[in-house]
Amino acid sequence: HQTTPHRHNHTDRRPVLAEFSLKDRVIVVSGGARGVGLAQAEALLEAGATVHALDRLPTPDSGFSRAAAAAAAASANTGPGRRPRLSYHRVDVRDQAALGRIVGGIAADEGRIDGLIAAAGINQETPALEYTAEDADKMLGINVTGVLMTAQAVAREMIARRQKGSLVLIGSMSATVANRGLICPAYNASKAAVVQLARSLAAEWGVHGIRVNTISPGYIVTAMTESLFEAVPERRTAWPDANMLGRLSYPEEYRGAAVFLLSDASSFMTGADLRIDGGHCAW
Ligand code: NDP
Repeated sequence: HQTTPHRHNHTDRRPVLAEFSLKDRVIVVSGGARGVGLAQAEALLEAGATVHALDRLPTPDSGFSRAAAAAAAASANTGPGRRPRLSYHRVDVRDQAALGRIVGGIAADEGRIDGLIAAAGINQETPALEYTAEDADKMLGINVTGVLMTAQAVAREMIARRQKGSLVLIGSMSATVANRGLICPAYNASKAAVVQLARSLAAEWGVHGIRVNTISPGYIVTAMTESLFEAVPERRTAWPDANMLGRLSYPEEYRGAAVFLLSDASSFMTGADLRIDGGHCAW
């Protein structure tokens, strides 16, 4: 038998729910100040992790302070080991040097780094004929280059510490679906790129025990979707009709998948895309 530092010990039969625990893990969440990223940060805290949120907002959403306070109160009752807590770091995910500094600082302070959720992203509805090169570069710069830079900063620390880990990149059903009613060509292209980026990083970093997967959500009720509803109010009723469950989704409905992908419960899963879209179908 070949033994590697990352060989899974299949004789270690823990109770299955223990495999979902993130106790003592240190996880970075980009876009963690609000929306999907914040909902996921809260779930990771509940599962026992210490969470470092990165975002470009000067101050996070009011829900962030509530989550940080709840984590501090709950951690007073945890047993031995690392106490789950939520911290905020302001950074633009396109800034490679700043990311390296911040993520390097987190890993040095915590002595480890175990995971990433890359949720920072933007959307903008622009017909293809109206795109400027600057607009397209901005979209791809944040949604693709920004995700690569964030994943790089985290994986670099894992590899330097010879530590295995799990990275979860937030794609979208827009990676594979284009609708006549929603004109977002560069966004859709950026999300297709994220899914293939994850597979490529999984192939490159698997040797280090680093797993990389995507979650591809359907429509979620967040600030991003609200601006698309304000632009065309009929979307509020049309979009729910476009999936098998007949409704929109909420950020909380992606929490379980994030905990699963970051935990040992998904130890043999990498390079995969978990599509969570209510069974989206064309309308
Ligand atoms: P939100 O706009 O609510 O949250 C995204 C966060 O990322 C914001 O706080 C935003 O800050 C931040 N961000 C944007 N650009 C940068 C940057 N350059 N550096 C650092 N932070 C940045 O969006 P959602 O929560 O809805 O989306 C989260 C992820 O989920 C995105 O990747 C999105 O594409 C994806 N998604 C969303 C869907 C939806 O229906 N909402 C569906 C499918 C996927 P700021 O406000 O300053 O831009």
